This record gives sequence, structure tokens and C-alpha cells, in this order.
Amino acid sequence: MAEGKKIFIVEDERRIARFLQMELEHAGFVTEVEENGRRAYERIIQGDFDLVLLDIMLPEMDGLTICRKVRELSDIPIIMLTARDEIDDKVQGLDIGADDYVTKPFAIPELFARMRVALRKPVKAVDPAEESNEELKLKNITMNITRREVMVDDTGVELTKKEFDLLEYLIRNKRNVLTRDQILSQVWGYDYMGDTNVVDVYIRYLRAKLDDKFNEKYIYTMRGVGYVVKD
Ligand code: CA
Repeated sequence: MAEGKKIFIVEDERRIARFLQMELEHAGFVTEVEENGRRAYERIIQGDFDLVLLDIMLPEMDGLTICRKVRELSDIPIIMLTARDEIDDKVQGLDIGADDYVTKPFAIPELFARMRVALRKPVKAVDPAEESNEELKLKNITMNITRREVMVDDTGVELTKKEFDLLEYLIRNKRNVLTRDQILSQVWGYDYMGDTNVVDVYIRYLRAKLDDKFNEKYIYTMRGVGYVVKD
């Protein structure tokens, strides 16, 4: 399976990255390593890799965010590398489109077995026309993700970048109750140092521009838990 396959190792722990690189190259793969999340995302969407091994806790952009953003553009096989105490992250990783995960510390034969399965997946090329029309819907709200436009029926709604990202995350997880911590890590990033009040503040902004303005209920508060949107 290895011949010439190009594996992108996204891991900020150098010891692990180095170990993976040695094992993979020994097995005949070509590898590249990146330790910064944001740069990793940019390199993945430029294509050119056959599979990504993706750590979760990374500087600048976490692995779950990378996976979710990559899935808007590409079917490239992604295997998450998770620590033992990141069980929830595992589940979430699969929800947002990762192909599989392995738990650190992992055995190389197990990793290779999972890579073999993931590499068999047919990868669809990005169709720019299709991609530019990706739309999310909630009731009478339509979000065009690539053009970053939001319409309520025929009326355009101006949202700031964070408001847009928050609404996108809520609608992508329609009917799932999202905790403030989940929202914070997905919309503001793992490294965000502020407190979770920022989520409530932005929910208020969104409600002012949507629920209040259009006299409709989009965003529900689940007391003591978080927020949910539903049709
Ligand atoms: Ca890490």
C-alpha cells in the first residue's frame, strides 16, 4: 500500500512526529511533518497528500477545526491521533468527518491497518462550482458558506466574521445541544484564553440580528447546558 503514497503528519510533539516519520518512511511512504495547525490546514487544502495523520491539540488551530474546515473542501483521508483522555474528541472527530482515529500511544501495526483502509477510500476531487454553492439551511435562513452570505427569505443579513462562524457551527450541528465549551473551542479555537461569557454575548448579537429582527425563534437556550438551533 505504501508505494509513493504521501502522508502528512500533523503533530506538534516532535518525539511522536519523528517516530511516525521514521516508521512510515521505513515502510515506503513519503512523509512531511507540520507542527502548526493553521499552516497544516493551508497545506492540506493545497492538495498533494494522500492521507493526513492529525493530532488534536495543536498551536493556532486545533485538529477538530482543521478536520471540519478541510471537509468543506476535500475528501482526503484523515486519521485523528488522540490522547487517552480525549474520548469525546474522538467521537466528535468522527462526527465532523474524520475517517478514523488511533489512541496514543498507538501500535504501528494498528495504525498501518487503519491507514490501509482509509487509503482505499475513493477521493473525490473538489468541484469549484459545487463548492461555491454550498448552502446550509435553518427554517427560512440560508447561509452560503463560500460567499459568506446570509439570507432570511429574500433579505440579506450582515454578520461579522465571528457571528457568521458561530451561526455556521450551530446550523451544522442542527438539533444537537452544544455546550459553551464546545462552541468556544470550535468557533474561537482551543487556544482562546477568554471566558465562556463571550459565547453568550455573541448568541445575543445573533438573536438581535435574526430572532428579534425577523420575529422568529431560531436559537434555543438549554438552561445549564448550552444552545441549540432546530427547524
Ligand atoms: Ca499536540
